[in-house]
Amino acid sequence: MTRNDHLQRVVFEEINARCIWVQLDSVTREVLSRAECPLVVADQLARALLVAATMSSGIKFDGRITLQLQSEGPLSLLMADCDHDGGVRGIARVREGAELPSTAAALFAAMAAEGTLALTVEPARHGRRWQGIVPLEGATLEQALESYFRQSEQLPTRFRLAFDGERASALMIQKMPGETVDDDGWNRLEHLVDTLGEQEMLASEGDDVLRRLFHAEERRVFPARELHFHCPCTRDRVIAVLEGLGQAELKALAAEQETVEVRCEFCNEGYRFDQVDLAALIQGGGPDDSSTVH
Ligand SMILES: [Zn+2]
Repeated sequence: MTRNDHLQRVVFEEINARCIWVQLDSVTREVLSRAECPLVVADQLARALLVAATMSSGIKFDGRITLQLQSEGPLSLLMADCDHDGGVRGIARVREGAELPSTAAALFAAMAAEGTLALTVEPARHGRRWQGIVPLEGATLEQALESYFRQSEQLPTRFRLAFDGERASALMIQKMPGETVDDDGWNRLEHLVDTLGEQEMLASEGDDVLRRLFHAEERRVFPARELHFHCPCTRDRVIAVLEGLGQAELKALAAEQETVEVRCEFCNEGYRFDQVDLAALIQGGGPDDSSTVH
């Protein structure tokens, strides 16, 4: 964790709106180094991480929020999630054999042609999973999200995302449901956000960008929350997946390969199972716990 991975929430009570400010530094580095994807894909993945982190501010219980973009284009899946504890992860899946456009704009346009955008909230224990899904619209991820909130929740929203290959910053303002005392306030906030440049977002130390932007607005600033890279995969979860294959499939795997290695798609961690482990799995017992690959 560093001071450059955090989320700050500001509420404008008179305007009945909120602002979320996110900076990701080590999280983006960690995810992108594990993903090993071309720069044009890394750019979209970093932006997806920012969105998942931003949306996590709305989670009021133990759980996880996931942003998922699916398309028929060369980038078939873009997914990022953030849990209540500030743990962020993400993946980008490129269609096999697909030729990637050279610019972020062209890549997004290829995604948007026949894509969908979904936001999913999953409580860790009790409660129902909730999902909102819309056609992917707009020329950028920001525009697609603004369209999502207009269609799915009727909440006016403005998103700004910035990424320079290393650092990543996001700012979102959103009207909250209910009455507004200050009707002009929302227009004022939108105007202020329009003045914000990408360089300024990326160069901001802590929340100084918020202080400069909203210094004349009455606001309540909440304590910053730390964010970090986290993937909840474990050897036990991989075992559960393997057990789900059934005995016949496991026997076939064991006959085919000396050791079976399962890689987590999110964090690239490898879990290796040798013949002893596989025999134990086939017999329904637990394999020994000593052969995780790092
Ligand atoms: Zn993992």
